[in-house]
This record gives sequence, C-alpha cells and structure tokens, in this order.
Amino acid sequence: MDLAPYIRNIPDFPKPGIQFKDITTLLLAPEAFRYVIERFEERYRDQGIDAIVGIDARGFIFGATLAHVMGLPFVSARKKGKLPGETLSEEYDLEYGKAVLEIHRDAIQRGQRIVIIDDLLATGGTVGAVVRLVERLGGEVIEACFVVELPPLGGRKSLDPVPVHSLIEFMVD
Ligand code: AMP
Repeated sequence: MDLAPYIRNIPDFPKPGIQFKDITTLLLAPEAFRYVIERFEERYRDQGIDAIVGIDARGFIFGATLAHVMGLPFVSARKKGKLPGETLSEEYDLEYGKAVLEIHRDAIQRGQRIVIIDDLLATGGTVGAVVRLVERLGGEVIEACFVVELPPLGGRKSLDPVPVHSLIEFMVD
C-alpha cells in the first residue's frame, strides 16, 4: 500500500519553512492504520522483542497499538514532568532550545530487547534521547521504527549504530 496519500502535508506548521507531515489523516483511514500496524508486527514478531517504547505523543498511538497486537508491555517515554513515579531524564536539542524526555526507572529491565516507535524521524534528536534512556536502564535497542522518515534531515545517520526502519520517506527538509 502507498501510504503517501494518507499523510497530509501542512506547509509552515508549526513555523515558517517546516513541512509538517500530519498522520492524523492516516489515523482516519482504518485500512491505512491497520496496514502500518501489520507491517510493524510482521517485522518484529520473530525477533524476541520484550517491550515496545512509544514516544510522546504520536508514538503512543502506533506504539501502544503494536504492543497490544503483539501481546507485549508498552512503555511511555514522556515529556518532562508527566510521569508520576521515579524517572530517568534525557535532554535533547530542538531547533530552538532544549527539551527533556523521561521514562519510569522500573519500566525496563536489564537485558530486555526493545523496539522504539515514533510517528516520524527528522534529525533524530528526539529518538536519540529515548535510546539513551533505554540503554541507561540496561535495555538493548533492537530498532528505532517510524511511519515516516525525512532522509534529508539525517536522523538515520545520527542514530548509528542503532538500526532504523521506516515505512515511507519524503525528500523534504
Ligand atoms: P527529530 O527529533 O528532529 O527527529 O523530530 C522528530 C519528532 O518531532 C517526532 O516526534 C515528530 O513527531 C516531530 N516532527 C519533527 N519534524 C516533523 C515534521 N516535519 N512533521 C511532523 N512531525 C515532525
């Protein structure tokens, strides 16, 4: 299935110059949402995965659905200040300034095989912070997995040696 028609491009959101890839239109189409989850499930079903980590907020939609379908634990990587238990934090760069993501310390056990899910890979800063959180807890990141990848922004290279998978690429920056 070609996912491109299901992903809406919103120019200049949230600021001038950004081509925002809106996956809410994909979520409106059950056949496309199902296709995404089936591709992910097929890819990871025989990989001995122990848990799925989803990134706040759109990574929760795909990540939690995948975890449910696979019968695996779902772990939330949340924006600072949202998780109530004991957390680890990692800072990462935004275009202007910094942001922080957090994970519960007891959500991942040493040696667990982890897949990280988000909707989109751009520079890789966001998912890079989540890779560090997982690794600090002793987890092994088997792959970072996205619906959409924007190759010109270099996220795949920035994550090296962590493997990256995506279902559709757009050549915009
Ligand atoms: P980055 O840290 O640069 O890889 O950015 C990835 C994060 O920002 C993901 O959580 C995306 O949801 C969001 N994001 C960045 N750029 C875009 C874009 N052009 N369209 C939609 N979401 C984006």
